[in-house]
Amino acid sequence: MVIDALSNVISRPETELRFASEYELIVAVILSAQCTDARVNLVTPELFKAWPTFEALAATTSGEVVKIIASISYPNNKAKHLVGMASMVMSRYDGKLPEDQVSLMKLPGVGRKTAQVVSSVAFGDPDALPVDTHVFRVANRIGLVEGAGTPLKVERGLKRVIPRGDWGRVHHLLILHGRYTCTARSPDCSNCAVTHACKYYEAVQRLPKPIQGLDPAKGAYYCATRRHYFDRPISRSDRTGTMQIACPKCHSMNVYLSRSGLTAKIVRDYRID
Ligand code: SF4
Repeated sequence: MVIDALSNVISRPETELRFASEYELIVAVILSAQCTDARVNLVTPELFKAWPTFEALAATTSGEVVKIIASISYPNNKAKHLVGMASMVMSRYDGKLPEDQVSLMKLPGVGRKTAQVVSSVAFGDPDALPVDTHVFRVANRIGLVEGAGTPLKVERGLKRVIPRGDWGRVHHLLILHGRYTCTARSPDCSNCAVTHACKYYEAVQRLPKPIQGLDPAKGAYYCATRRHYFDRPISRSDRTGTMQIACPKCHSMNVYLSRSGLTAKIVRDYRID
């Protein structure tokens, strides 16, 4: 149901990285770790022009590569990984990118997620379901997985509830949904196609309504249980393990922000870098 709803609004569930070969794909995916696809797409044309093959990239130095990828996150490490990756493809795989995830993960700069993206996008590997920061957050928020605290747990959880033939498509649907609608800082729930099925949205709707007429001059917070203002809250863990602001006197989490009248309670959310 959720996947069908996302498919209805995301017409092209595919990577936004620009590439024209397996070589260009793995270079772009390595560069995209903790960096936006848009930023990667800005630098790769010059990089691919300078070193259009594994052989060419293996023959240069990381210092030369850094000059072109300086605007990407972690340029020094990524430059070393790119040259190392190309060198290993040349020396161990005769200049041809290996197709299986295990071999891909032996290449410098290639972890589980990168290997799965490459094996899925380049070789159509049906077992790949890469989990990046967007897939991790969106799968947890919607409730496709529950309380999955690591990318591996999210991957396993998704594989249990999604038919194997859909794993590649679902990976892209969740990424694009997370990138453009269910963003980390401010999910656009009012324009979301899966509001009806989203556990996070449901929890947000259950939050207490704002209190009108609070006086911030009396204190930054207002405890609605003891009905008093205070400035220095304590924090307490709620049923879901989420740290909440609490009253220093009665320890109640029924606390409001005096300035806005909004509840201080937050809904458990999931982020990875
Ligand atoms: S309803 Fe909101 S939190 Fe849920 S998936 Fe949509 S945008 Fe994300």
